[in-house]
Amino acid sequence: MAQRPVVLVVGGGYVGLYTALRLQKRLSRGRAEIVVVDPQPHMTYQPFLPEAAAGSVEPRHVVVPLRRTLPRCRVVTGAVTGLDHAEKRARIAPIEGEPYELSYDVLVMAAGSVARTLPIPGLAEHGIGFKNVGEAIYLRNHVLARLDAASSTDDPEVRRRALTFTFVGGGYAGVEAFAELEDMARYAITHYYPRLSTADMRWVLVEAMGRILPEVDLDMAAWTVKQLTARGMDVRLNTRLESISDGCVVTLSDGDEFASDTLVWTAGTKPNPMLTRTDLPVDERGRVVCEPTLQVRGVPDAWSAGDLAAVPDLTKEAPGATTAPNAQHAVRQAKRLADNIVATLEGREPEPYRHAYAGSVASLGLHKGVAQVYGVKLKGWPAWFMHRTYHVSRVPTFNRKARVVADWTLAAVFRREVISLGQLQDPRREFVQAANTGRTGSLPPPSAEDKAQSGSLRAG
Ligand SMILES: Cc1cc2nc3c(=O)[nH]c(=O)nc-3n(C[C@H](O)[C@H](O)[C@H](O)COP(=O)(O)OP(=O)(O)OC[C@H]3O[C@@H](n4cnc5c(N)ncnc54)[C@H](O)[C@@H]3O)c2cc1C
Repeated sequence: MAQRPVVLVVGGGYVGLYTALRLQKRLSRGRAEIVVVDPQPHMTYQPFLPEAAAGSVEPRHVVVPLRRTLPRCRVVTGAVTGLDHAEKRARIAPIEGEPYELSYDVLVMAAGSVARTLPIPGLAEHGIGFKNVGEAIYLRNHVLARLDAASSTDDPEVRRRALTFTFVGGGYAGVEAFAELEDMARYAITHYYPRLSTADMRWVLVEAMGRILPEVDLDMAAWTVKQLTARGMDVRLNTRLESISDGCVVTLSDGDEFASDTLVWTAGTKPNPMLTRTDLPVDERGRVVCEPTLQVRGVPDAWSAGDLAAVPDLTKEAPGATTAPNAQHAVRQAKRLADNIVATLEGREPEPYRHAYAGSVASLGLHKGVAQVYGVKLKGWPAWFMHRTYHVSRVPTFNRKARVVADWTLAAVFRREVISLGQLQDPRREFVQAANTGRTGSLPPPSAEDKAQSGSLRAG
């Protein structure tokens, strides 16, 4: 290995950021060059996305800037499009300019997961995921814009369609986004939309399994369904999305059909498909096969962890059990991974990763939540409080912790912000219109996009 080995970290999310943070701390300057490649210039603290969508936290505060946090690393804003580990060369597509190859000595594969979609008619055209901060901002603006649209029309069909919000997938990401956004819309209608009633809204959660929240016990999941139902929300278990038409008519497997301007897809994730363009070994689910030490099986100088890695779960007796894809494991695996890289660079043996899953906390709106941690079950306000304290203690950097606490405090004092910045969805529209008007001297006819602008998700 080179005198000053290059450690390439693919992905600057949970695993990538925490690994790089630890490596820059533990490896004195000059001992290694750490290169972090990510298409985004920031790490996203995904557990705060539902609160960012609901306006309880400023979206900028749920992301952690990589360049600021990793001053001793080289940050490349771009995507790794594939790699040849046998040759130790990665292909990089920067956000601008020609792709190039980067040579490295040690690889950390941490490119996470992507939404697992199905070939459902209309899904790609009308649906949106909930994995990144852009989607959270978009949905917040979109939901509030739907309230504006419903409040400004006398057409009962337009109003019903605007006020019908459909979510598919009942894991914690889906349930939290569903419950938080409903809570925000309820608050907004109660305070600022005298022409609307909360009873006009229809929130539908579609889940193919017979339960939601597989991370908690069945009784807690059933309690959550009861709570959501008591809020007037419609939770459809054992039901699948069949299609969504161009007119935004949603068809479910139970035969129900209704028009909905909003379709959010949170029905699971799959390992980053970029792995198929590497020579790393993957299992039947497309995950990188790892040893308990987080080394890629049978491949020297390659490490992996997080959502895209199949890491043996040493706390479970079932043969072949692997750790679940969640932040709790991602953070801890990153620390073990970084320590193991340092150990091997120093000629010591790497240690296996072992962590028994502690449980889950989920927020269901302001002052509402559900939690099951170390067997202790909490409901309502105590669960919500635990959710907030746990996540603020976990969000990386003191700077972000302070900003998130400030957001919560300001929202408690001045009420939460419920204004749609709809122009963010298409900021150049007005300018382009003005420029075109200047050219022809008359107003251009409205484009299809203009007409749809206040309509379905596609147009925002
Ligand atoms: C809405 C939501 C809420 C959640 N809430 C919780 C929770 O409450 N508790 C919990 O434990 N877990 C939660 N999770 C799951 C948790 O966020 C993930 O398990 C965790 O982020 C996994 O970390 P990772 O590093 O593997 O992936 P990520 O954190 O997703 O990082 C992957 C990184 O790779 C980058 N990348 C992608 N493609 C490339 C490429 N080609 N080249 C280079 N970089 C690339 C991405 O931009 C990203 O920055 C939640 C997830 C979501 C979506």
